[in-house]
Amino acid sequence: MIAPACQRGGNKTRKLEFLMAEALEQGADMVMTQGATQTNHGHQTAACTASLGLDCHILLEDRTGYENANYNTNGNVLLDHLHGATTQKFPGAHDMPVEMERAAEKMRVEGRKVYVIPGGGSNPTGALGYVSCAFEVLAQVNDAGMKIGRLVHATGPSGTQVGLVTGMCAKNSQIPVLGIGIRTPQPKQEQKVYDQACKTAKKLGFPGVVQREHVMVNTDYGGEGYGIPPGSGIEAIRMFAELEGILLDPCYSAKGAAGLIDLARKGEFKDERGVFLFTGDAAALGGYDFAFDSSGRWVTL
Ligand SMILES: *Cc1c(COP(=O)(O)O)cnc(C)c1O
Repeated sequence: MIAPACQRGGNKTRKLEFLMAEALEQGADMVMTQGATQTNHGHQTAACTASLGLDCHILLEDRTGYENANYNTNGNVLLDHLHGATTQKFPGAHDMPVEMERAAEKMRVEGRKVYVIPGGGSNPTGALGYVSCAFEVLAQVNDAGMKIGRLVHATGPSGTQVGLVTGMCAKNSQIPVLGIGIRTPQPKQEQKVYDQACKTAKKLGFPGVVQREHVMVNTDYGGEGYGIPPGSGIEAIRMFAELEGILLDPCYSAKGAAGLIDLARKGEFKDERGVFLFTGDAAALGGYDFAFDSSGRWVTL
């Protein structure tokens, strides 16, 4: 049912598979969510609601201060609107969950049945998408007879790591999951993932399987802040695009890959196989053209 969003990839689609089922179960006719201007989660939500015939409203917070026209209207913002979602802009440092509840309440008074999805789709329902991903990884690893030393990925609002850790623990797997943080300081991010993982394990019927030491986050690659790719992230985007044909997104997977590349260069994975879990998502690149100089590729033959 959510094939359109799947076609483009991006980790929010796995969460939305479960969140959309809950929205339908509750009889919603409108879905509301929030994120940064170039939120990947926003456009994937809009794609899902389009395919299900639900209305979608997205609250967008300016977390970077970028005034570039493409950042504000192209990339994910263009796709939000193409999928028929309405958007509403907010300046930075707003209490977005409160704003969203206010907006949802207004629509409810007007008679709408609103299903609210937290930023990034990161709650125990959304995390179930990554519990099933952990099971898929384990099945593939077992089929291939492979041994994985570490599963590395970008972590932000946290549902991905929450689901992966919960899934691995539920199956009693020994594969460590390493999240590369994009903004939040390490102790806070680890605690957030741990708390959510405990709730997700309980929802799944495996209370108590996740221990605090199962949650590992490295926050050395976050750069200047949310949505601002550091030089190492730009380098990672170029490397993956030119050497692997894979497009990373500037906000998350670029920082995750920058961490992977740096740790590999430092010899961290010398005696083990590190697997990078690719979370997507190319759509934001159109809003970040100013971060890359591709003029050298324009040639006349
Ligand atoms: C949101 C996002 C992440 C982070 O996922 P969380 O589950 O919210 O931590 C990683 N990569 C991409 C491309 C994303 O859009």
